[in-house]
Amino acid sequence: MNRAASKEDTLHWTYDGKNGYIGQTKWYTLKNSQCGGKRQSPIDIQTNKLVLMKSLEIEYKGYYKPLRNPYVENNGHTVQLMSSDKKNLPMITGSALDNQVYKFVQAHFHWGVRNGFGSEHKINGRAFALELHLVHVNTKYKTLEEALGNPDGLAVLAVLYKVSRKINPYIRPLMRNTAKVTYSLERKAIREPIVLRNLLPPKPKPFMKYYGSLTTPPCSEVVTWIVFRDIASIGIKQENVFRQKRGEVIDEKTGKFKRIGNNFRTVNDLNGRKVYISSS
Ligand SMILES: [Zn+2]
Repeated sequence: MNRAASKEDTLHWTYDGKNGYIGQTKWYTLKNSQCGGKRQSPIDIQTNKLVLMKSLEIEYKGYYKPLRNPYVENNGHTVQLMSSDKKNLPMITGSALDNQVYKFVQAHFHWGVRNGFGSEHKINGRAFALELHLVHVNTKYKTLEEALGNPDGLAVLAVLYKVSRKINPYIRPLMRNTAKVTYSLERKAIREPIVLRNLLPPKPKPFMKYYGSLTTPPCSEVVTWIVFRDIASIGIKQENVFRQKRGEVIDEKTGKFKRIGNNFRTVNDLNGRKVYISSS
């Protein structure tokens, strides 16, 4: 996932570490970083090692109606969907989230420059073209900063997408607006309805759960991860919209901002952690 980036963070780190930036193999050296910790994300999920836990459930509130005052923003590392209405945000709760109540903060994407990679999580060693993260903060904390200091601070729903020849009509309104935020810090209010359920895969169950971290610096170990087992699909033309996005790194040859491309972190050791799966 990618937390709301402050200007200072965006100046220091990138994924590839080129042009004098700090790349992911060195993220652990950043200030207040937990990137070298033992509960890091993403991971490669081995389906033959999943632990079945039939009691795992997620309750969705506000996921079936349009998000109020939605907008998209290019933050230089990804494209982010947010709501400027801080009062009526969608929520998730339930046993899968240890009965804590989490409210929606933002959703954003990780992608690759080609179809065979781009996702952060892998399943049995396989990566997917795109991964969506729906980030939620535990409502028992007053601020995002406070949540980032607690092991149950955040919950993230992760959706893996594979590329298809057919466009996905459910994500069309989001993609139309994503096409309009090419450069870093560009923002666009969305006039069409955005329903979060439409961004999830067709089958919301089964899902997998484990305890991990943010996947961008400072890699705080505060995230309850939910990864859907069903794989969603995105049209190749829609996927290419992401590949046009430009970040804050300037290409020395052309003098233009470089494309974001390959904004995913590599997988981390489980270090003894268990990954659970819900019933179907
Ligand atoms: Zn992310």
